[in-house]
Amino acid sequence: MESALRKIRRAMKCDREAARALLVISSKMEGIYSELEPYFRDYIEPFCKNCPTPCCVNRHGFPDFEDLIFLNACGRNLNEFDFACADTDMCQYLGSNGCRLARCARSYRCTWYFCDEVLDRFESEHSASFMKFDELMHKLASERAKLIKKFESLWSHLA
Ligand code: SF4
Ligand code: SF4
Repeated sequence: MESALRKIRRAMKCDREAARALLVISSKMEGIYSELEPYFRDYIEPFCKNCPTPCCVNRHGFPDFEDLIFLNACGRNLNEFDFACADTDMCQYLGSNGCRLARCARSYRCTWYFCDEVLDRFESEHSASFMKFDELMHKLASERAKLIKKFESLWSHLA
């Protein structure tokens, strides 16, 4: 993780213009995360709140390289993570009221993972509100793809 962070920070420091472009994309992603929040509250949280077997384990909560690009690009502090914890133990960010992290501070896989029960609910949803949720999720994925592509191009010029 330290070497990944060094790589990302070095790249952003070397090319301020590219770092600014990454900031623009990551800020857009933050905006989409905020827009998504009420939909998560309505569509997902009712399930997760009463879930007898939460899927939140440490290995899901841990950020991957692309998450680190996003968090650095928008200047967010990285969450402290205890690496001594077992991968399969309950996630260290899971509190009695659910995840303690803001949505955009979680790993991307946490936002995109839906268990079968939640997916079944989605199948029966055709409301305009749900369509908007779906649209925002895809918009988020598209901006993230742009962010990663931009970072890769920045890195290839430095390598
Ligand atoms: S996504 Fe599904 S398995 Fe995970 S906490 Fe929510 S209801 Fe439980
Ligand atoms: S949603 Fe939160 S508590 Fe669950 S795995 Fe992700 S970071 Fe951990």
